[in-house]
Amino acid sequence: MRIQLLHSTFDSQGNATSEQRLTCFLIDECVAVDAGSIALATTGEQREKVRDIIVTHPHMDHIASLPIFIDDLFPTLKSPIRVYATQEVINLLERDIFNSNVYPRFSELKNDYGSVMEYVAIPLGQEFKVAHLTVTAVAVNHIVPTVGLLVSDGRSTVAFSSDTSETEEFWNIINRAPSLEALLIEASFPNSMAKLAEVSRHFTPASLQRELGKLNHKGVNILAVHLKPAYRQVIIDELNGLNIPGLGVMEPGRTYEF
Ligand SMILES: [Zn+2]
Ligand SMILES: [Zn+2]
Repeated sequence: MRIQLLHSTFDSQGNATSEQRLTCFLIDECVAVDAGSIALATTGEQREKVRDIIVTHPHMDHIASLPIFIDDLFPTLKSPIRVYATQEVINLLERDIFNSNVYPRFSELKNDYGSVMEYVAIPLGQEFKVAHLTVTAVAVNHIVPTVGLLVSDGRSTVAFSSDTSETEEFWNIINRAPSLEALLIEASFPNSMAKLAEVSRHFTPASLQRELGKLNHKGVNILAVHLKPAYRQVIIDELNGLNIPGLGVMEPGRTYEF
């Protein structure tokens, strides 16, 4: 499985930097997990291929350019963009984003070929298909309804924590999986901001370390994501200080193969 965390920050010359302000992962160039920078950082080729987007939760950094992505493609879409989310999250997207005020209600609009956007309500704790992938979503512990994901292409399995703090069911489904090649997990704040991390339901390197004690698989590539740009270097230093085998920081723009 090939996974890329899309760039979401650009310097004054327009060059992408390693700071992550928005979240959007591309799997095998065709399925997106979250859509923060989907309209900003996809190549023309990726834009042509991505038609399946899983939205873990409705926070802006995870959906910021989803409406723009659909808007850009509107006249040319020959099949709808499918947005996979729990019914709870679909309701929030319809109420707060695609509400005819912030942006058009794309789910009710058609171009010359038909519908441009379609919601797919996903279950919790049960497998469902997204393109060639088998996915299981579980609720995690964040301040709005949020899911973590276990994704398999039949050969390798990768887990995405999405935004979360201390949680249980996510680890249960991971530990039940026969194998796990990679875990993409958030580490938002430095240890000095543990209080803020707790109230906003995010991890620090220290709380992530405690949480990783629940992972039974060995030899997993663990990639930290969602590092707040203002504290990026401190968080990286603290993560490195944990000396956890296989733990690194995911580089935006790089394609990882698992
Ligand atoms: Zn969030
Ligand atoms: Zn977030």
